[in-house]
Amino acid sequence: RTGFVAIVGRPNVGKSTLLNRLIGQKISIVSSKAQTTRHRVTGIRSDAAAQFVFVDTPGFQTQHRNALNRSMNRTVTQVLKDVDLVFLVVEAGRFGEDDRKVVEVLPADARVVLVINKVDRLEDKRRLLPFIQEMSAVYPFAEIVPLSAERGTNVDELVRAATPLL
Ligand code: GDP
Ligand code: MG
Repeated sequence: RTGFVAIVGRPNVGKSTLLNRLIGQKISIVSSKAQTTRHRVTGIRSDAAAQFVFVDTPGFQTQHRNALNRSMNRTVTQVLKDVDLVFLVVEAGRFGEDDRKVVEVLPADARVVLVINKVDRLEDKRRLLPFIQEMSAVYPFAEIVPLSAERGTNVDELVRAATPLL
């Protein structure tokens, strides 16, 4: 199996950290500042079961309307148009208006895996289950995978879940 996977989400959810973790290289810049990823960044991961081409994208911007943000958002919508699968990244326990805006730009027929990142930050792990339930009402996600991109926890599970969706 082989396919293109877009990594999308609002700024700072950990998209670039996830790309680096998925391919095992520091290819995309990670920063606590928004707008660090201004262009698409592509990385390949091959194993016996599948070859993934991951495309990291700029954070989708809904706060300020300016030329840079418009151009970054255009990059996101363009990438979304020609991929086989989407990883929509959100932060554990937080789904706000800016996250919802990203859901709204998903193409109608997009196949989407929800990545709940930064689970290491959840002090009370019991909050994860109601959050997953809340999220499953937002969009018909093909899979929902909680993980920590920074620590690498459950990232292999994301790959396992995504492989049959390519
Ligand atoms: P992007 O804007 O979505 O590409 O986000 P980045 O990958 O640049 O990460 C934004 C910030 O979140 C950085 O400070 C990362 O170190 C941090 N971060 C990313 N993944 C995790 C995670 O799994 N856990 C925690 N605690 N922090 C993370
Ligand atoms: Mg980034």
